[in-house]
Amino acid sequence: MTFLRQDCCLICHNPISPEIGWRVIFSVQQEQLICRECESKLEKITGKTCQICGRPFQLVAEDFRHGDICHDCYRWEEDSRWQGVLKRNQSLFVYNDFLKEVLAKFKFRGDYDLVRVFAPYVKQAVQKINADLFVPIPLSSERLYERGFNQAAALLVGAGLPVTELLTRIHLEKQSKKSRTERIHLPQVFNVIQNADIQGRSIVLIDDIYTTGSTIRHGARLLQQAGAASIQSLTLAR
Ligand SMILES: [Zn+2]
Ligand SMILES: [Zn+2]
Repeated sequence: MTFLRQDCCLICHNPISPEIGWRVIFSVQQEQLICRECESKLEKITGKTCQICGRPFQLVAEDFRHGDICHDCYRWEEDSRWQGVLKRNQSLFVYNDFLKEVLAKFKFRGDYDLVRVFAPYVKQAVQKINADLFVPIPLSSERLYERGFNQAAALLVGAGLPVTELLTRIHLEKQSKKSRTERIHLPQVFNVIQNADIQGRSIVLIDDIYTTGSTIRHGARLLQQAGAASIQSLTLAR
């Protein structure tokens, strides 16, 4: 077996010192694309997590939990409009300062090569999820034009997964033309693409970051209303 080796780390661009094979063989990264130092700064989410949003319980105070779920998810589930809308979110890494910087390079400075760093992790996680369709959280057309690519779709492509576009995003400027009350009562930021074949499908929404869960839940709710059987999500960071 041979492994391709990158001379310089795709994150910090320092030379990668050749390593003995075993680490590469047992790591998710089949190619050695990042240096040991950068790899050590990527904090994988492990251990007990909230059963809905995937937040690591290590980082959650005891009184912020309700059994298997965190307080935020408890609040969402309490509301009948949102109950069961998002079956489960899985996030791969802790959104620490290092990852924040890496994702900024990826998204805002267009360092598309970074897809190769994360794609193997996405691929591995997706293999454990039973789903029909992988749907990237869309950017508005204005954002897409600015950035040149959608980071969520790029992750899917990098992982060799089919991309199904089911949602479009309403640009915030258009939203801001609505009155404040309208925005609060209709906080919808997405539309479902017309004639999309969603009926009875199990869907995984893909995004780079799970923050409040509001974006993903809004997308999930629309897809559920359009007939999807279940909606899960997968994000790089949490
Ligand atoms: Zn590095
Ligand atoms: Zn939660």
